[in-house]
Amino acid sequence: MGRQTTETQQAVEHQCIGHKEGDWIIFTCPICRDYQRHINCKTKEVIVRKGKGNAVHIGSHAPVHSDLACFSGS
Ligand SMILES: [Zn+2]
Repeated sequence: MGRQTTETQQAVEHQCIGHKEGDWIIFTCPICRDYQRHINCKTKEVIVRKGKGNAVHIGSHAPVHSDLACFSGS
């Protein structure tokens, strides 16, 4: 009794929204204002600015079409 449901909070998934800025695809979380994931579509460099939350951020593995658009556009 008195068990906290912190597990539910930790398992929550946040859907990140990606947009393209030059060579970079930037994913931001609509819930975590301080979370950002930058992916360079040319060098494949990834920069993650993790916020305070423990949430699992999904959507970072999805920019395949953006990747292709980047290559075809250059
Ligand atoms: Zn988040």
